[in-house]
Amino acid sequence: MARNFSFSRVPDVRVGLGSIAQLADITNALRVKAPIIVTDEGIVDFGLLDAAVSSLSSINIRPTIFSGVVADPPEPILVEALSAAKQNGCDGVIGLGGGSSMDVAKVLSVLMASDQNLVSMYGVDKVTGVRLPLIQIPTTAGTGSEATMVSVITTGETTKAGIVSRTLLADAVILDARLTLGLPPLITAATGIDAMVHAIESYTSVRLKNPISDMLALKALRLLSTNIKTVIKHGNNVEARQAMLVGAMYAGEAFANAPVAAVHALAYPLGGNYHIPHGLTNSLVLPHVLRFNSLQAAELYDQLVPVILGSDGPYAGTKESALVLAEYFTELADELGLPTTLQQMNIPERDLPKLAKEAMTQTRLLINNPRPVSEKDALKIYRQAF
Ligand code: NAD
Repeated sequence: MARNFSFSRVPDVRVGLGSIAQLADITNALRVKAPIIVTDEGIVDFGLLDAAVSSLSSINIRPTIFSGVVADPPEPILVEALSAAKQNGCDGVIGLGGGSSMDVAKVLSVLMASDQNLVSMYGVDKVTGVRLPLIQIPTTAGTGSEATMVSVITTGETTKAGIVSRTLLADAVILDARLTLGLPPLITAATGIDAMVHAIESYTSVRLKNPISDMLALKALRLLSTNIKTVIKHGNNVEARQAMLVGAMYAGEAFANAPVAAVHALAYPLGGNYHIPHGLTNSLVLPHVLRFNSLQAAELYDQLVPVILGSDGPYAGTKESALVLAEYFTELADELGLPTTLQQMNIPERDLPKLAKEAMTQTRLLINNPRPVSEKDALKIYRQAF
């Protein structure tokens, strides 16, 4: 008998070149009069805010701009953003940028509307209050944060912790490839692989995997694998950029409902300790986790090989699928110009036991992995990635 499942997604998604102009329409529909745009300095410098601000000016709205987000945002950024939003009497939040900006926007929308303190929000279903209207506009095609109910914040010095709650699911999303045309090749590559990891881990998740998440993961992997090399070589190819944005959102929707697993659990300590970009941390451990899971997820990896490599991929049918995928992703990272070992990232070998210990604290992710991961296993995977 078919298993029961539930699936949540953002209700209003505007897709296409120039769709950023619809920001005014969405803002009106949500009855927001004083929005705050949450972003980072890079986005402002690249002029990526201009079209959003211009759309809002058509309805006589001048947004508050908070551009203090940094990658892997730490908690003090939320305090600063909250202070800016309160000072300006903001009644709605627009996240515009990569996952870091969108994650800050999510939590800010809750902090503005409820008395709950940040510390009590970490974990699954711990958000008790409501939020302000929330619009998300990604400028990287990777995290899928625009479509997820997750926000990842760096707590203390090095620990990345997740807040997971349906309250964080946005009211509306705009996917406009024009905002991603200037994304530098290395960020394009790392974020693109990040999206592919979301789809793979969602498809093999042992909890909450369902027919809709599967369908989205497969569609995402097809779109991402057929376009990732094009957007690296031809950054101005708008069709390929748009396909990457849609693929990343599908992957986000998939893992929002069928969550990610050991790749992310092992990647987080790399991001927290050494500030390696999130997509790259995933890319560094992915091939080794694929090999680790090879027996337990064999059937599902068999299904993914033709989707990612095409039916006449160079290795199709000749090797165990986990190995085929592991080799594919190592070669892809290399071809896209990304480092493929922890050593290349100057991570000291003596840190590996500490990283393995930290990875074990990511229990909300590890429980989704097809094969249980012990601290000893985690250390072995890091050694293989070294
Ligand atoms: P990011 O938001 O940290 O941005 C990285 C850099 O890219 C920044 O310097 C930014 O200015 C630049 N950038 C972004 N868009 C650009 C553009 N169009 N042109 C030029 N430069 C641009 O990067 P990210 O990889 O999108 O996000 C990573 C964060 O998202 C991490 O904190 C990670 O933990 C989190 N994350 C969240 C989820 C979720 O579901 N909430 C999922 C995966 C990752």
